Amino acid sequence: MARRKKIYEGKAKILYEGPEPGTIVQYFKDDATAFNAEKKDVIDGKGVLNNRLSEFFMTGLNTIGVPTHFIRRLNMREQLVRACEIVPLEVIVRNFAAGTMSKRLGIDEGTQLPRPIVEYCYKDDSLGDPLVTEEHIAAFGWASQQDMDDILSLALRVNDYLSGLMYGVGIRLVDFKIEVGRVYDGDFQRLVVADEISPDSCRLWDIESGQKLDKDVFRRDLGSLTDAYSEVARRLGVMPKMTTVAKPTLIN
Ligand code: C5P
Repeated sequence: MARRKKIYEGKAKILYEGPEPGTIVQYFKDDATAFNAEKKDVIDGKGVLNNRLSEFFMTGLNTIGVPTHFIRRLNMREQLVRACEIVPLEVIVRNFAAGTMSKRLGIDEGTQLPRPIVEYCYKDDSLGDPLVTEEHIAAFGWASQQDMDDILSLALRVNDYLSGLMYGVGIRLVDFKIEVGRVYDGDFQRLVVADEISPDSCRLWDIESGQKLDKDVFRRDLGSLTDAYSEVARRLGVMPKMTTVAKPTLIN
């Protein structure tokens, strides 16, 4: 059997060459990292949950006409996606103050923002993904003005879709991050939502209790990350029968 070609290994995922040209297999690992990988752990079942949740969100977006790189899920940990050229920006949308915005601007976590605020960070781990302005993006040629218009529109459409979906199951979408990729159709370039959408890249708070159901549970040592992600999956009807991800038993 031929070994498949690994294209890239990141903190939470591995990308392999896909079966057809222009496709990639995205494998979800159980590794959890925070604070630019200063804090690390392996959390059993996280990859399985994020594969399913990201499939659910990306499929929903594709259905309402927001283009994504997602093609189909292949198995528990892998999905087939369109190969795309990642724009080197992390696009963050915030509905409520939290995290670095609260720290930077001295606004209490949970304060509702007057309107969704979109921020851009330059994707570079060695620099800690610094916040940048559209001036930097244009001057350094990371994206054109047309790209920026499209990215803003994609980010706000994802926000509308995800906020509504979450609100329907009693969850507040505080903020989230997406990545955007370029795909080429003949002479045309299109921007699509890429990477993943999961509780690793969103802040999700229970509307009633304020309980955190996202990666802050790991960042801030608030309990079991898989319990939190399983709760999001259960409420959305993703993996409804699953309460915990079974660990294989090794028989000697
Ligand atoms: O840390 P900060 O408050 O800037 O994060 C805003 C949102 O973006 C959070 O939902 C966080 O999970 C997400 N994020 C991410 N990957 C990063 C930075 C932030 O998914 N590298």
